[in-house]
Amino acid sequence: MLFACDLNKLRIKPLPNTKGICPICNNEVIAVCGQINMHHWRHKPNTNCNPWKEHETEWHRKWKNEFPESWQEIIIVEDNEKHIADIKTENGLVIEFQNSSILSETIQIREEFYKNMIWVVNADKFKDNFKILSLVTNKLDELLSDFSGYYDDIEEYLKKNQEIEFEKKNLIEEIYQKEKTFLRIDGDLANFENYFNDYFNDLENDFGNFRNLLDTEKNYLNNSKIIDNLMDKRKISEQKLNIYNSYERCKIKNYTFCVKINFNNINKDKYNICKVYKREEENKLFPKIISLKSQSEFSWYSSQKDYQLIVDIRYYEKKYKNRMKDIINEIKIIQNENTVLLIKLKNDVFYGLMDRKNELSEEINKLKNELREIKEKQNKVKENYNIEKEKEHNSNDYGKAEQRIKHNYKGRYEYCWNKRRPSWDYSNKPIYLDFGTHLFKIISKNEFQKIEKKYFIKQVLNNTIS
Ligand SMILES: [Zn+2]
Repeated sequence: MLFACDLNKLRIKPLPNTKGICPICNNEVIAVCGQINMHHWRHKPNTNCNPWKEHETEWHRKWKNEFPESWQEIIIVEDNEKHIADIKTENGLVIEFQNSSILSETIQIREEFYKNMIWVVNADKFKDNFKILSLVTNKLDELLSDFSGYYDDIEEYLKKNQEIEFEKKNLIEEIYQKEKTFLRIDGDLANFENYFNDYFNDLENDFGNFRNLLDTEKNYLNNSKIIDNLMDKRKISEQKLNIYNSYERCKIKNYTFCVKINFNNINKDKYNICKVYKREEENKLFPKIISLKSQSEFSWYSSQKDYQLIVDIRYYEKKYKNRMKDIINEIKIIQNENTVLLIKLKNDVFYGLMDRKNELSEEINKLKNELREIKEKQNKVKENYNIEKEKEHNSNDYGKAEQRIKHNYKGRYEYCWNKRRPSWDYSNKPIYLDFGTHLFKIISKNEFQKIEKKYFIKQVLNNTIS
């Protein structure tokens, strides 16, 4: 203790080689005035003094000495019980300095006795038994991660917006292409007659090889081919007829319907249209004309050098002319058929184009709706982004938030015990853990309030501690 009593019961400080009386137990106490420790009074060994008082250490004495002497070691008597308060301020607040561990019952008894009190506990021995985290640091970390989340949002928005932009661009291109086709078909329909002639020419020039044909188109093309073949056949007949006409005519009277032909240019089964005469009689008035009666006759005369063969070409004329007439009739029938087909084809193509135009128009409208939806989607994304941005901008501006955190969480620390010391849980009075240069006030089961030692002392002196 720092004060003893003299014989007149007055408080005295220790001086070398002096003695005093303990104000509690009235036993003699000896002044200890060494070089190192603060001067103090000590009981003689085996003295039974205040049972509450633990062995006083230099830590106790230094703390007490921070305050006015008139506040130090104040004797409080209540219901015949007498105890020394380490510090009692002029406002009656008791400060108990606790160096060693203490039972929870003892804590409760002292708190009931002193009532208005606070504890200062020496944490030197167990300060490594805590994990302590600054709430400012914690909250600033959280703020930073919130803000990086915000930047993630922006990045996500940009990505999403880009995807939508791409989709939009594709749709616009698709609409453009379809509209182009639509306009072309629309123009084709307006100039259908001209268009159809081109179309018809294309169809004739094997246009059909490039796409699936309508049935009318197929029939029409088939007929055209048949007509071409018939024309060829007609030409062949004409050529054959021309060949017979190109032979030299017979000059003999009444036989001018015949032509001169060599035996090897005609088949012997045509003997019945064949006649012969002797070459030397050709210029006579009435040459003898012999009609051939058989193939063997034909063969026999063919071997005679002085006989000229003449053939009645009226047979061939009739044969090829009839054939050509038949072919032309056939062509006429097919051409009529194709005229009807062409009208049908015209209708089919026209209505086919109309259908395609309507189809395209529907497709374009559908695409335009899709585009509108996409634009709306994009606007919504933009709107959300703006709302988020505005929200962040108004209330969460980083600098402001930082200042707010520093202000609100100043000196606040989160703590947890590595190995719990439960006895202080039963205290109902403020507890300050002395960490040397500063104290931590226990605010809750997991929160400390840091206070500089100088500031703590100043608050006690100003009676503003709580
Ligand atoms: Zn004593």
